[in-house]
This record gives sequence, structure tokens and C-alpha cells, in this order.
Amino acid sequence: MNFRKASLKLTFSYLLIVMLISVTFSIILYQISSLEIDAGLTRQGRILEQIPDDTVPRPFRNFENIRKEQLDQSNQHLKMNLIYFNLVILVLSGMTSWWLARRTLKPIEEIVDLQNRFTADASHELRTPLTAMRTEIEVLMRDKKVKISDFKNLLKSNLEEIEKLRSLSDSLLKLANYQGKKKNITFDKVSLKDLIQEAYQKILPIAKSKQIQFKFDLKEALVKGNASELVELFIILFDNAVKYSPTNSKVWVNLKKIDHYLEIKVKDEGYGIKATDLPYIFNRFYRADLSRSREQISGYGLGLAIAKQIVESHKGEILVESKLDQGSTFVVKLPLTKF
Ligand code: ADP
Repeated sequence: MNFRKASLKLTFSYLLIVMLISVTFSIILYQISSLEIDAGLTRQGRILEQIPDDTVPRPFRNFENIRKEQLDQSNQHLKMNLIYFNLVILVLSGMTSWWLARRTLKPIEEIVDLQNRFTADASHELRTPLTAMRTEIEVLMRDKKVKISDFKNLLKSNLEEIEKLRSLSDSLLKLANYQGKKKNITFDKVSLKDLIQEAYQKILPIAKSKQIQFKFDLKEALVKGNASELVELFIILFDNAVKYSPTNSKVWVNLKKIDHYLEIKVKDEGYGIKATDLPYIFNRFYRADLSRSREQISGYGLGLAIAKQIVESHKGEILVESKLDQGSTFVVKLPLTKF
């Protein structure tokens, strides 16, 4: 979609409407004013007619001619003024219309841009495992002395790529679901403490495999929320805390009430995030550049985008504080509900 062209079209439409109104009013004003001037001069003429000829000053004796002259002059003046006025309106409304058109189309342009970038990123991520699978198959097919063990290795590697594709399509589907207005999503009274424990159980195997200890300090807290979405949110945060931390480290999970909201903090002592990356980590497909460990850490940069959608659908907010090589703290704030 060419937004410059669309802006021009919209500007032209706005301008047309303004000018139609302005010109119509000017014509009406011209007609009324010239009738008024005419009537005023006719009234003056009648008064002069009642005065005896010899008392009327000489210049006014031939009033009919003067009247016509004055009427022509006034009409001419009026016409010129109205033309100037319409020219000023044309310039001013032209500029305002362009500004308004850009303002109207800007959010749409941004959404279309985002959508295009998303499609490009998603296709790129989908293509990578497919290309890897294809290359491996082609190499094996060219090999004349291929053994059964090579086939087994190929299938194993292909399975890994298929698993990556499955996890990517799962994440994409989740993101699409959370973004669309889900009409049938149910909000119940749920215990955050229980949901946090449930999420912890899911990531326990990977935490154990890296000898990462979780330390909990959880107050009992009930919220109105969707249990499976909230579990998903905590899984994402816990999973990241484990993924982006070295072995033998700790993760602290804190849940407390503050005024009218609940605060959940997930703090790790991992690699941390560069200040320049921080504003973007909730964007879809954004992955901070972890030069030393990037290759080993799997992911598509969709987790935090999903987490943000979940928090926002619960009318809360998610924040992050992080320092490179010192660790990160993700803070989720959810509104307290009275039951
Ligand atoms: P993924 O983990 O799949 O890359 P996410 O959307 O979950 O995607 O995270 C986006 C990026 O934010 C990650 O690539 C990583 O660079 C950074 N990140 C997220 N959580 C942490 C964390 N706890 N510690 C350090 N970096 C993190």
C-alpha cells in the first residue's frame, strides 16, 4: 500500500469538502450582501427623491448613475475580498488537510509495517529449519556409500528441526490467539501462588539440568484471571531466567501485595540485558545479541511478546530491570480484585 499516494488522496478529499463549503458560503454571502447594498442605495435614492431638486447638492442630482457606479464598485470589492478569502482558505486548509491525512493514516501505516515485518520475520524463521533439513537430505542422497547409521543420524537431526518448527508454530499460534479478541476467554478467581508453583513444576527439569535453584517468597493472593494464560506467563519468565543464567545460579520469585496491585518479581543472576536492547525485548522476534552464548540458547524472541499480551489482557503491566553480567528482574503488576 502506497501511503504517500493515499495521504494525497485523503488530503484532496478533505480539501474538496472544505472548499465546497467555503465557496458555497461565499456565493451566498455575495448574493445577500449585493442585495443589501442595492436595497441600501435604493433607500438613499428614495430619500433624495423627496428632497426638492434645488436643495440637493449638484453631485447627487444624477443619483441613478451614482447608485449603479457604487453598486458595481461595492460588488467588485466584495468579489475580490471573497476571492482572497477563499485563496487563504485554500492554502490553510491544504496544509491542515495534509497534516490531518498523515495523522489519520500514520497508525494504519505503522500497523501495516509491523505486520509486514512480522510476516518477513516469521517466514525467515520457518525457512531456516527447512533449509537445514533439505541440505542434509541432499548431501546424504549424493553420497554413494551411505550407511544405515547415516540415515539414522539424518532422521535424528531432521526430528530436531521438526521440533523447532513445531515450537515456532505453537508460539505463533499463541501470539495470534492472545492478540485477537478472544471472546470465550474465561476469568476466574485464581490463586497466583498455586499458578506460580504449577509453572515451576513445568520448568523444574530444565532448572535441575542446569542446577539452578529457585527461591520462593510468595504471599497468598487471589486474582481474577485466566489460569492457563497466567501459568504460561510464569513459564515464559522462569524459562528465560533459566535459559539466560549460568549453571549453579539462583532465581528468586517474589509475590506481594502493594497498595491496590499485586507484584510478582522474577530475579535472576544471569547474563543480563544490554541497556540498548532493553526497550525492544518485548517486541516480536527480538533477541538481544548474546555474542558468547547466542548460538547455544534456543528461542525465537516470541516469549516476552506473548508474556506482554497475557499481562495486558489482565489489565496489568510488565517491566524489566537489567544490567549486563549482573542479572535481570522482571516485574509483573496485576490489579487487585475485590471478591
Ligand atoms: P527468546 O528467549 O525465545 O529469545 P523472549 O521473547 O523470551 O525470546 O526474549 C527476548 C530476548 O530477551 C531474549 O532473546 C534475551 O535476549 C532477552 N531475555 C529475556 N529474558 C531474559 C533474562 N531473564 N535474562 C537475560 N536476557 C533475557
